Amino acid sequence: DYPLSEVDPEVHELIEKEKMRQFNCLDLIASENFTYRAVMEVSGSCLTNKYSEGLPGKRYYGGNEYIDQIETLCQERALELFQLDEGKWGVNVQPLSGSPANFEVYTALLSPHDRIMALDLPHGGHLSHDFKRRVSGTSIFFESMPYRLDESTGLVDYVMLKETAILFRPKLIIAGASAYPRDFDYYRMREIADEVGAFLMMDMAHISGLVAATAVPSPFKYFDVVTTTTHKSLRGPRGGMIFYKKDTVHGVDLETAINNAVFPGLQGGPHNHTIGALAVCLFAAQSPEFKINQLQVIRNRKALEEILLQLGYNLVSGGSDNHLVLVDLRPMGIDGARVEKILDMSSITLNKNSVPGDESALVPGGICIGTPAMTTRGFKEADFRLTVDYIDEGVQLAIKANSCVKGTELKDFMDFVVSPDFPLKESVSE
Ligand code: PLP
Repeated sequence: DYPLSEVDPEVHELIEKEKMRQFNCLDLIASENFTYRAVMEVSGSCLTNKYSEGLPGKRYYGGNEYIDQIETLCQERALELFQLDEGKWGVNVQPLSGSPANFEVYTALLSPHDRIMALDLPHGGHLSHDFKRRVSGTSIFFESMPYRLDESTGLVDYVMLKETAILFRPKLIIAGASAYPRDFDYYRMREIADEVGAFLMMDMAHISGLVAATAVPSPFKYFDVVTTTTHKSLRGPRGGMIFYKKDTVHGVDLETAINNAVFPGLQGGPHNHTIGALAVCLFAAQSPEFKINQLQVIRNRKALEEILLQLGYNLVSGGSDNHLVLVDLRPMGIDGARVEKILDMSSITLNKNSVPGDESALVPGGICIGTPAMTTRGFKEADFRLTVDYIDEGVQLAIKANSCVKGTELKDFMDFVVSPDFPLKESVSE
């Protein structure tokens, strides 16, 4: 057996280039992070060789003595981290990622064409939740009715959610989002779910690290099921988890239904290298250093928010409670797609993002800025203040270039920016 550089120099070189790209850029993508060396060690370990369909102690393959111990340890650590009583809560650590975890919950709790309500995609929701555009499997196999933000406040419109839920009678209501800077009102969502007799699920993918460190409110008290990815604020390997109450809700035994939905419902053999790596991440997440890191994520977001507001930027909902801010660039006459491209050229990586009222998801009016990844790399408040200066410089540049080629397609805009007609360097230093 030979090292990658000898076996496949082409892939080796591309990985080296990606490593340098990650090293050299400011990663402000709210869903990204840098995992631990130990996690990567387990992800690349011999655990990848093993088949182990089923759950610990109940496998369809032999030779699972150690795999069983690893998965059990992973489950125990997951419950411990979120301070859950083993008698009341269980967890499945096998979901391959966040979207499969969510779909597994739907198939566990619902029948085809049952109704779901979740936050609309252009208002910060996630593709896997559902929305009426029939792009994700969720809206192909289930009937969906999104709830939305109150566009005047940028906050979830709970009044509209309640009124719609009473008419639509969903069987499942989902909280949680990909780009919502505020805490959900868990109590209110529980009340609405109870009023219409729906299951209540929280997708805490973005904030699970913050929840673990008690830097934001924990959803567990209010929800029947909580899903999460493991690679965002939690800093683990790419994967997913489903937490469920050990209870029968609306006639469904959640534990049996969810475990069966994962396997054999939608998955085969678990990715044991990921489960092992997740166990390591969950151990690390119980350390004081992890808590300090997550509190710093919030402090850094506050610094980011403060300077953006001082510079006159318009933030959706006026600010944030978590690890991200959503900037509405429309009042400045520029869109998120152009700003994302310009910042990319300066090794600042962030996402264009829809903001309430937007019509196009490809050329949306905003950008989303998150603090977890750079906090892991040691950034403090002063570093984020400086980062805002760089972002602002990029925005001003985009505005200037746009004023020269207004109304053109994104590609033509970029061609202009790098052409001799637009003196990039002088524009930056002016
Ligand atoms: N749920 C939320 C809220 C997300 O933001 C994401 C991804 O960004 C997912 C689920 C899906 O996770 P994955 O990309 O691992 O399928």
